[in-house]
Amino acid sequence: MQDTSRSATWFERARHVIPGGVNSPARSFRAVGGDPPIVMARGEGAYFFDVDGHRYIDYLAGFGPLVLGHAHPRVLDAIRQAAADGAMWGTPAPFEILLAERLVHDVEGLDQVRLTTTGTEAVMSAIRLARAFTGRSVVVKFEGAYHGHSDGMLVKAGSGASTVGTQDSLGVPAGVVQDVISLPYNDVEILTRTMDQIGDQVACILAEPIVGNMGIVPPREGYLQAMRDAAHKVGALLIFDEVITAFRFGYGAVGPALGVVPDLYAMGKIIGGGLPAGAYGGRFDVMQYVSPLGGMFQAGTFAGNPLSSSAGLATLDVLREDQPYARMEQLAETLEQGILQAAHDYGQTITINRAGSALTVFFGPQAVYDYDTAKQADGGQFARFHQLMLAQGIYLAPSRFEALFVSAAHQPSDIDETIEACRKSFAQMA
Ligand code: PMP
Repeated sequence: MQDTSRSATWFERARHVIPGGVNSPARSFRAVGGDPPIVMARGEGAYFFDVDGHRYIDYLAGFGPLVLGHAHPRVLDAIRQAAADGAMWGTPAPFEILLAERLVHDVEGLDQVRLTTTGTEAVMSAIRLARAFTGRSVVVKFEGAYHGHSDGMLVKAGSGASTVGTQDSLGVPAGVVQDVISLPYNDVEILTRTMDQIGDQVACILAEPIVGNMGIVPPREGYLQAMRDAAHKVGALLIFDEVITAFRFGYGAVGPALGVVPDLYAMGKIIGGGLPAGAYGGRFDVMQYVSPLGGMFQAGTFAGNPLSSSAGLATLDVLREDQPYARMEQLAETLEQGILQAAHDYGQTITINRAGSALTVFFGPQAVYDYDTAKQADGGQFARFHQLMLAQGIYLAPSRFEALFVSAAHQPSDIDETIEACRKSFAQMA
């Protein structure tokens, strides 16, 4: 076992001054055998290094943003240049305009966009906008999805919320809960029936076009189309939460790539290049409701700040020029095949859901297509797997409801090393 005593010491200090020692519950190791988590000191390409000096191959990717890996030279240069002129001014500035132009140009159906500081704000604001536009209050979303931590989105939420057992958070007023309906993902019949019953009260259907927050769960054939039809039939809007998916599976948003353009998008993560960022936008007529043009208020001191905007723009530049997607997907497929072979060789029953460069290993025999099936996967087995991989220098997200992201920085040798570690882990688990 590696010596992680410095990590433990740092975390002990953290516990005294930060609830649970973490600034976001998803970072805790409670769901994978217990704290302390590993405290990281620096990142470089596909790796990060903990405060005790151990190297890890990183499949967390900062929970999604680090599609180019850590400290990409062009992203760093962009941040340095922007910082040299002052971190923010609270005025309009070229970087945010350039990023907005780029998003509008490269994301289908994004006629206008408002930059925010987090994905939470992006989703929260898109919902407020849908309510403003339709004059209705009900949001239809999906069980086990995670859309940030605004009040209404913590009704039957996934990701960190489900990991730590606070799917329905305390502190959310009943009045808010009453306007949010959560349906099982991938079930057209329930969606259609619900919309037939209460469609005239629905402001929007909100979904991740490929779910990342109950683990990776792709939509069934025709499901996104069914969402759009169900929304439009009753005059509601379709919002795609592409906070994880935009620029992850290909250059642009994934909804259009799968054949469905939403009315509104929420984005984040990759578009900030590793700095805090979010964005919401879509149909021109709907965006005219946003203040100061219209009566839907939304704001932010740090929204579109120069550092995030320039880091995001540099990241999109690299993605557009290098088009690393096919290569990332191929590495992820090799990884998937290697893990499946290891499971076969050592008698582990697993299911892998993969979409492009992102995948989730579920411990169980069943197909995973919604939150109920995702929950059936064995949490204890995942925890053991996580510990064994960590001890071999492979960093996976500390929850069975998250994705494992291959980045443009990973090399075939990293994938080989990961598969070898996986074989050893499964051998020990057998
Ligand atoms: N939506 C989705 C789909 C997400 O995955 C996340 C974060 N994991 C959010 C919204 C919230 O983004 P943030 O953490 O930047 O507020």
